[in-house]
Amino acid sequence: MSDISRWEELFRQGRLQELSAAAMDLTRKHFGDSVFLRGLLEYSNHCSCNCLYCGIRRDNARVERYRLDDRMIYAAVDAGFSRGLRTFVLQGGEDPEFGTDRMCRLVRGIKKRTGGMAAVTLSCGILSREDYAALKDAGADRYLLRFETSDPELHRYLRNGVNLERRLKALDDLRSLGFQTGSGFMVGLPGEDDELTLRNIRLARELELDMIGIGPYIPHPATPLAETPQVPLKKTLLATAMLRIACPKAHIPATTAAGSLEPDGRERMLRAGANVLMPNISPVEVKPHYLLYPGKICLDEDGLHCIGCLSGRVALVGRKLDFDRADGRVIHDRTDSRASV
Ligand code: SAH
Ligand code: SF4
Repeated sequence: MSDISRWEELFRQGRLQELSAAAMDLTRKHFGDSVFLRGLLEYSNHCSCNCLYCGIRRDNARVERYRLDDRMIYAAVDAGFSRGLRTFVLQGGEDPEFGTDRMCRLVRGIKKRTGGMAAVTLSCGILSREDYAALKDAGADRYLLRFETSDPELHRYLRNGVNLERRLKALDDLRSLGFQTGSGFMVGLPGEDDELTLRNIRLARELELDMIGIGPYIPHPATPLAETPQVPLKKTLLATAMLRIACPKAHIPATTAAGSLEPDGRERMLRAGANVLMPNISPVEVKPHYLLYPGKICLDEDGLHCIGCLSGRVALVGRKLDFDRADGRVIHDRTDSRASV
């Protein structure tokens, strides 16, 4: 039995303590006590896609739609930068109003006002290779595009006809263009069993990702999947620990979805091997309208207040916030053999 399959067996048995202990050894080895920060800006909740799981899908007529203008985006970046943030993640629906030219302008604008010190991460869905190339030329450093599930059939169904293959091609384009590449998946999608979660983890490993974002799937009441049962947070914690073991050097955020499912969800992800937090620095007035899932936390807090709160939370788990921009480690040493576990 290979080392990984030994851990996979513990995953199947739900042995969170043993998996977390091994995961934390690797987290400390590669990142020490540091928990890195990424400021998240949700620039638009318009989306031309209709993913069955998502609260801001095209057909959800109950969403109050918004777009941030450049001035609001720069104001949030300036405030975050002065508070020490060195990575800004621009995330949104697939919104044609935020075409490549506009995104390039925003990337250049952020680079300029931060004196080139901040990393810019984009998370705007599937685009053509030419568009990704233009964004890279404009200075974008990183891109997040979760594959959501590694099961092709389930993927096509949940993403309303969009193929897994198309998603993987986009990830391949991003990586070959030199982006630090992030992907990941939701845990507990309808029809998912432990074996599929393990296949998701194996795909994340094969993709040699710099960043891997996972979180619990939380059914949204205004979607076709409203009646799906909620899978307990423990599954996400097991998957987090297993991911750290499979991908020791990847940046793994303790995601807002985990903190929304359980009040201490993010702290528990940190204890299972996560090493990044993503305070939401979107303007408070738009936060309640970017509800991919219900129960999202910190809607009436501004993101800079969040940094103070997060600092206390990481101290409780024996770690400290680190304001380094923390570039991906994997992209720099793809040929490095994986740490043995
Ligand atoms: N439009 C972009 C980015 C915004 S969605 C994209 O789809 O890539 C960001 C992530 O939110 C998705 O990748 C998905 O994994 C997650 N998400 C969407 N709906 C969710 C839900 N109901 N519960 C938990 N996570 C969800
Ligand atoms: Fe749009 Fe992303 Fe939601 Fe899909 S998950 S509907 S692409 S915002």
